[in-house]
Amino acid sequence: MTNSLTYLYNVYRQQLDFFNSGATKGYEFRRAQLQQLKSCIKKNEAAILEALQKDLNKSAFEGYVTEIGTVYEEINFALKNLRKWMKPKRVNTPLPLMPSSSRIYSEPLGVVLIIAPWNYPLQLNLSPLVAAIAAGNTVILKPSELAVNTEALLIRLIAENFDPAYISVTTIDGPTMSNSFIKTNTLGHIVYTGGEAVGKIIMAAAAEQLTPVTLELGGKSPCIITKSAKLDNAANKVAWSKFTNAGQTCVAPDYLLVHSLVYDRFIGKLKDAIVKMYGNDAEENPEYPRIINTTHTERIIALIEKEKLLYGGNYNVASRYIEPTVLSENETGSAIMRAEIFGPLLPVFKYESEQDIVNIVSENKNPLALYIYGEDQKEIDFVIEKIPFGGGCINNGLIHVGNVHLPFGGIGSSGIGAYHGQYGFERLSHKKAVMRTATWFDIPVLYPPFKNKLKWVKKLIK
Ligand code: NAD
Repeated sequence: MTNSLTYLYNVYRQQLDFFNSGATKGYEFRRAQLQQLKSCIKKNEAAILEALQKDLNKSAFEGYVTEIGTVYEEINFALKNLRKWMKPKRVNTPLPLMPSSSRIYSEPLGVVLIIAPWNYPLQLNLSPLVAAIAAGNTVILKPSELAVNTEALLIRLIAENFDPAYISVTTIDGPTMSNSFIKTNTLGHIVYTGGEAVGKIIMAAAAEQLTPVTLELGGKSPCIITKSAKLDNAANKVAWSKFTNAGQTCVAPDYLLVHSLVYDRFIGKLKDAIVKMYGNDAEENPEYPRIINTTHTERIIALIEKEKLLYGGNYNVASRYIEPTVLSENETGSAIMRAEIFGPLLPVFKYESEQDIVNIVSENKNPLALYIYGEDQKEIDFVIEKIPFGGGCINNGLIHVGNVHLPFGGIGSSGIGAYHGQYGFERLSHKKAVMRTATWFDIPVLYPPFKNKLKWVKKLIK
């Protein structure tokens, strides 16, 4: 039933009524819903971890840290700060506009549609949901059909814990969603996480109703190992950040740029780190994730050029297994460098100069993430100043996404808008700007006739 258009329209109409009743606006209501969401996850941790294991062979550790734990962090932070975020903010009023005071009210937007991908199928539904609840909206969630077990679990958990007139799940297919629903209905906002091609379809459909969108996309995120990098440390961090979720992470290092002076030593240490973490045969390691489906497995395997192998390269299509794989690379135009890999293959370029970094990275502009390893502040500053990217880390990978104090989002082709923590609350609120003027004093300077008044205005505004 969640896959029917009738169901979606009914839910939408009920949510619009519920939203217009004002029921979602109060502090106590929002707080209670956040607590309800947290207790629902707490009670169902085992079922969530099982669904993630079935969909992607995520270990309980990875599932807890990267999915459940991340959502807890978002909920806890929102619960702690919600009253402060909701409070109207007083701002200054310029002298020529006196006697007045100015306030910004954070107002909810309406029915928010959240469309999520399959790679972090719990977190990428529920983190935007936390922001939408905190901001006082109602929500329609559309999980990815590829993470079947998590999708089924989300349908059940949301139905058991929330009134569909407030939060509901739809499993309508993508084209119907954009062509029949988004184009014809007034939504408060759409938060879409996924690939660029579908992002464009959603943005075009949303334009029909001028619905605002947040697009959380992907791209080719570079990872730079400078000559001043602490190589053991960098090798561990790169192996972990690349092969977590078998590389199916939007902010995973997509490819490496390693300075020629440290290249051989670094590659040796990277191989050791992979073996230490996943064993000599990762297929036998019960904690190593699988690719989401056969189509993606075959897509990734087709990118392996045997003559470029530095490590790995084994796979098993039937079990959707691809070994952590490192490849040497020197062409920016090769197949593996033309699109985001989104799997456990890591091409490595050798570079000589800072200009090489700029040249290689600018072939795939505006990455979602960038990582740089090194101790030389000048090199780090050069990269941060020269290259536009969504967010990233110095001497680490992925972890900026887990910091609720930081905005998370892309730039250009890697996304529009950012969320997490207060940024999510702001993104899903309208800033209603209101000035209040005192009535005890009415300065007639703005009123006609204007004779002799311009010289006074010019003294005030110049
Ligand atoms: P996708 O674009 O195929 O699908 C994402 C969601 O969109 C799914 O729920 C799907 O059912 C839905 N969808 C598909 N067609 C649609 C349409 N026409 N109208 C409306 N909805 C439609 O993406 P994917 O393959 O699931 O995800 C992979 C991409 O997502 C990668 O590029 C990755 O980098 C990116 N990603 C980004 C982030 C981030 O936070 N920035 C996080 C995870 C993944």
